[in-house]
Amino acid sequence: AKQYELGPLIVYDNGLMNGARERLRLWSDLHRALEREEFELLFQPKVSALDGSWKGAEALLRWHHPMLGAINPDIFVTLAEESGLIMPIGRWVIAKALDALQSWRVETGNMDLHVAVNMSPAQLSDQGLVQLVVEELERRQLPPSVLELEITETQMLEPEKAAAVISDFARKGIKVVLDDFGTGYASFQYLRQFEFSCVKLDKTFIDSLESKSHERVLVKAMIDMAHSLSLTVVAEGVERNSQWFYLKSMGCDLLQGYRFSIALPAQALPEWARQQPV
Ligand code: C2E
Ligand code: CA
Ligand code: CA
Ligand code: CA
Repeated sequence: AKQYELGPLIVYDNGLMNGARERLRLWSDLHRALEREEFELLFQPKVSALDGSWKGAEALLRWHHPMLGAINPDIFVTLAEESGLIMPIGRWVIAKALDALQSWRVETGNMDLHVAVNMSPAQLSDQGLVQLVVEELERRQLPPSVLELEITETQMLEPEKAAAVISDFARKGIKVVLDDFGTGYASFQYLRQFEFSCVKLDKTFIDSLESKSHERVLVKAMIDMAHSLSLTVVAEGVERNSQWFYLKSMGCDLLQGYRFSIALPAQALPEWARQQPV
């Protein structure tokens, strides 16, 4: 057991969890959260930068703790990684996300929609992960191109191992996205080393678009470079029309953020899309 390592995280992020006993409690509660069906998967729409039309969604995990209420993924994903629980949880996330995508395809008739799930680098060492993903797609008769796996560069601990798994996914036609692009010191290194099909510009860049002209130059350069490598570019954390305007004029492909929608239950997305003024 390594629960002592969890101390600072929980003390700072959740005032309720400041004793060793409480930490141990949260730890053991997480082990039962799957079977008790305490997880919920929400979906934040991704839209076209050109006209705001619905293109896909990112799955975002929530844990509804029976006593503590909603717990932020920033806290429990770390816990899940350290305990190895991220493997079964991650498999559950993939199945749920594909279920959601399938229901949207049936309801809207739009076969171009995609769904993205977040992957901890720890999951890349899940033996049989690629096979599981392929089987989950086949079971629903979904083409591999509808699934995107988002991986954060700053967490890449074993780049060689990760590169092998990523190219395995790429060979099968499953897209891998470099999340939080531009925040790690190795961003450009990673672009050369891994077979990504998309980069996701970190929210920190989007935040400073309106106030800092040199940031706009930087963002434009990142978009152009990604495009020259045939990568799709997504911007996250778009909250205002002015940010949309800049990103559209710079040729960013897809947008995501509170300007368009917060993360919603799966069944709410088709209705949300119908209400968009396209
Ligand atoms: P991320 O992948 O960078 O996700 C983006 C976060 O920004 C999400 O927080 C989202 O709700 C939030 N967000 C989206 N649009 C806006 C906006 O316009 N403004 C602001 N201020 N925030 C926005 P969330 O859902 O709390 O997720 C936090 C992190 O937890 C994610 O960061 C991701 O790394 C991780 N995570 C979430 N779900 C999963 C999962 O199923 N598996 C794994 N391994 N990690 C997950
Ligand atoms: Ca993400
Ligand atoms: Ca991100
Ligand atoms: Ca992040």
